[in-house]
Amino acid sequence: MARVVFDNIRKEYEDEKRGNFTAVAGSSFTIEDKEFVVFVGPSGCGKTTSLRMIAGLEKQTSGDIMIGDRIVNHLHPKDRDIAMVFQDYALYPHMTIRENLSFGLKNLKRPTAEIEQKVGAASAILGLDDMLERKPRELSGGQRQRVAVGRAIVRDPQVFLFDEPLSNLDAKLRIQMRVELSELHKRLGATIVYVTHDQVEAMTLGERIVVMNKGVIQQIAPPTELYNNPSNMFVAGFIGSPAMNFIDAVIEGGKAVVGGGRSFDLPAHVVQGLRAYEGKPVVLGIRPEHIFGEDFALHVPHDHKLAAAVQVIENLGSENLVYFRVGERTVTAKVHPETSATIGQLKTFVLDLSKAHFFDPASEERIL
Ligand code: ATP
Repeated sequence: MARVVFDNIRKEYEDEKRGNFTAVAGSSFTIEDKEFVVFVGPSGCGKTTSLRMIAGLEKQTSGDIMIGDRIVNHLHPKDRDIAMVFQDYALYPHMTIRENLSFGLKNLKRPTAEIEQKVGAASAILGLDDMLERKPRELSGGQRQRVAVGRAIVRDPQVFLFDEPLSNLDAKLRIQMRVELSELHKRLGATIVYVTHDQVEAMTLGERIVVMNKGVIQQIAPPTELYNNPSNMFVAGFIGSPAMNFIDAVIEGGKAVVGGGRSFDLPAHVVQGLRAYEGKPVVLGIRPEHIFGEDFALHVPHDHKLAAAVQVIENLGSENLVYFRVGERTVTAKVHPETSATIGQLKTFVLDLSKAHFFDPASEERIL
């Protein structure tokens, strides 16, 4: 069983400027055997530190880490049965690809026949057979990335750890490698822990995602759950692109009153769910894809029409992003590319309020 357990893990760094700085503030979770889990969050949220603590490259200040059935707190990285793939690949430039792949096993003094068999199997899985005698500089970025993954595969570890492995690749190659990594996970049936700051990468790769902010876990859930039921404003704003719109509102008589004297009629279940907020402020969250131009608003269940002046239009080919203001906030709508809109035009938008979320402005937790 190659599960990974974090039991109340804290990591504090001694920092001259910040004093005792808490990078990870008491994290607890279990990554199940064969699961693909992604740590995601903005720069500095503690995801790399968490990964490095699993690897044993960083020592936690308190708490226990388990890999398989063992507490590994005091084990050296090489004794943890993990393999890590880094952002910069860390290949040996003077060695051939075959030598790069063999290096770790040779160091472990494995028999030659076993090394050849494992290198052969990894290179077949990753499509590296024709490149084994080349040097890393003779490979493309994507191919080098595959060699880095191959070096991890030959070690046959209990757990694979990936630290932003695709961030040095161009956008097209990143998408291709994303698909390859997903397939690889299925084929190897391995436990994978993967760090990225890119929410699209997290959503497409992770079976479950751990969303972190400022050293604190915000939510652990499968991608669709994060998207449909974010636990707070941070997760709601971080997952999804473009980000969810937040509109300040006050609940009055079953309506959400927003800036400029406008009010939104709310679906019955929302009115019921917000009864405790009568007369109080809330934040209404609605994703750009749940706002339509009136001309393309078919089958919107709880539609609410809103006229607003168009500020900016971004044409992305498959869709247009249209920006307009509600009160103090700029709102983004992701609309059909043939939706007619011109800058300055007073346009009617249709909001699907059945998809809206409501947050408590003080705690930022989701109410509904
Ligand atoms: P990024 O995406 O930028 O790599 P991250 O989420 O991986 O960010 P970490 O590298 O885990 O973040 O860092 C978490 C926090 O701990 C940051 O504020 C960072 O400055 C701090 N930190 C990391 N390593 C050290 C260190 N050796 N000494 C002091 N502070 C550190």
